[in-house]
Amino acid sequence: MESFDAIIVGAGAAGMFCAALAGQAGQRVLLLDNGKKPGRKILMSGGGRCNFTNLYVEPAAYLSQNPHFCKSALARYTQWDFIDLVGKHGIAWHEKTLGQLFCDDSAQQIVDLLVAECEKGNVTQRLRTEILSVERDDNGYTLQLNGGTVQAAKLVIASGGLSMPGLGASPFGYQIAEQFGLKVLPTRAGLVPFTLHKPLLKQVQTLSGVSVPSVITAENGTVFRENLLFTHRGLSGPAVLQISSYWLPGEFVTINLVPECDLAEFLNQQRDAHPNQSLKNTLGMQLPKRLVECLQQLGQIPDVTLKQLNSRDQEKLVEALTAWRVQPNGTEGYRTAEVTLGGVDTHELSSRTMEARNVPGLYFIGEVMDVTGWLGGYNFQWAWSSAWACAQALAEQEA
Ligand SMILES: Cc1cc2nc3c(=O)[nH]c(=O)nc-3n(C[C@H](O)[C@H](O)[C@H](O)COP(=O)(O)OP(=O)(O)OC[C@H]3O[C@@H](n4cnc5c(N)ncnc54)[C@H](O)[C@@H]3O)c2cc1C
Repeated sequence: MESFDAIIVGAGAAGMFCAALAGQAGQRVLLLDNGKKPGRKILMSGGGRCNFTNLYVEPAAYLSQNPHFCKSALARYTQWDFIDLVGKHGIAWHEKTLGQLFCDDSAQQIVDLLVAECEKGNVTQRLRTEILSVERDDNGYTLQLNGGTVQAAKLVIASGGLSMPGLGASPFGYQIAEQFGLKVLPTRAGLVPFTLHKPLLKQVQTLSGVSVPSVITAENGTVFRENLLFTHRGLSGPAVLQISSYWLPGEFVTINLVPECDLAEFLNQQRDAHPNQSLKNTLGMQLPKRLVECLQQLGQIPDVTLKQLNSRDQEKLVEALTAWRVQPNGTEGYRTAEVTLGGVDTHELSSRTMEARNVPGLYFIGEVMDVTGWLGGYNFQWAWSSAWACAQALAEQEA
């Protein structure tokens, strides 16, 4: 039986970073993954360029039943610390929008960074590995693998959530939490497109590919100002992905498709200046042509000039475009979701070390726990920060 100081399950963002740091602090670390390659989600992330952090990381950008939990780790290992590390590896990056930082070249660079840091920490990595059982005794944790038995005083679960099963996602982390008596909060897909009921879907499909700036509001009052994308399956784009994390089945979202102007004021001004201008052409100054044409075909934009538009119809039109109420049929689910909401209840964990309060030597980091960030690099920053906090604790105990 091989023995290590710490075994880390999951060679994703959190697991690799934690393994590297703990290894560099002198721990003998074994990093396990069921996949062929480490960091598979990183490679897919940010359209292949990995949105690795955000300039404006703050606890308010994270959803959790225990909103204070993430504060300590985010404050101790910040976006600036990770940006510094990216700089040390000579990786060029740029801000795309809203503080979102991407590699100039490729997400592979972030995986290479983590692999290099793991090598520096002499981390033993074992891929294509299934964990058949986990047992705990006075010496720590014994894992039966498909290729033998391994043992360590400490076990770190970094196996992520349920999104994208094609990339190795599994409920392993939740099962281990339950095996050791930790509460697991219900999970659901987050940062995910909405599907629509048939009649609305038929209308929306004709707009597939059209993207508009929008302000989108959930029933609980959460608001995002980002782009909305019409697709052949329903609604997507950053605005929809963001609000999906705050949406529950049966609820409505309210969408302002003309967020950059006061539409009523704009129509009044245009009527004064160009009374014979068609309503359709006037709206075309604020909205994509395809959207205006589609709304006209659907009878939502009357075929009139501005002077023919009476105040009641104008009010109805403004309401339809600035407070469009949509009741999604559901979401596309884990198949396309970027994250999993819910997971290991953080009330069960130390926010300083990520160790289970009642199970010495058992740690949870990254997405497996009930901490979920907004779209825009926040989820990777949680992986880095929680991994760093855990690695410090592993090293402290060693010393
Ligand atoms: C398509 C896509 C794009 C994304 N883009 C971004 C982005 O640009 N910016 C951002 O901040 N976030 C992004 N995210 C979210 C981000 O990828 C995750 O939040 C982050 O990867 C979580 O890190 P993690 O280490 O906790 O889990 P993961 O990265 O999911 O790693 C978990 C690892 O555990 C392994 N594993 C699972 N079960 C087992 C098991 N039973 N045995 C052994 N190993 C197992 C998996 O194979 C995986 O390698 C994106 C997500 C997706 C799906």
